[in-house]
Amino acid sequence: MSSFDRSVDVAVVGARAAGAATAMLLAKAGLSVLVLDRDRPGTDTLSTHALMRGGVRQLHRWGLSIG
Ligand SMILES: Cc1cc2nc3c(=O)[nH]c(=O)nc-3n(C[C@H](O)[C@H](O)[C@H](O)COP(=O)(O)OP(=O)(O)OC[C@H]3O[C@@H](n4cnc5c(N)ncnc54)[C@H](O)[C@@H]3O)c2cc1C
Repeated sequence: MSSFDRSVDVAVVGARAAGAATAMLLAKAGLSVLVLDRDRPGTDTLSTHALMRGGVRQLHRWGLSIG
């Protein structure tokens, strides 16, 4: 049996900003979610690592804090 034999409600392709947030919200709504990404976990991307005000507010709304 492969690890993909288990059924899920939703498969999200892309595990970065949009995909991770979408998967989190779907899981919080009670769905079983599979997140797929072609990159390995922890793979970084080009970024200035700046978090905009709107992003900070959204994280707070989701109950996530910046450590
Ligand atoms: C140089 C640079 C600097 C930036 N600096 C900032 C910053 O400081 N602050 C900020 O807020 N934003 C910044 N951004 C913008 C930010 O990177 C993007 O807005 C954000 O990454 C978009 O997230 P996303 O999840 O939509 O897409 P992405 O981050 O592109 O993630 C998409 C994911 O989907 C995966 N994927 C795609 N196709 C497939 C497939 N067919 N199968 C499997 N997996 C797949 C990819 O591997 C990737 O992990 C910057 C962008 C650039 C280019």
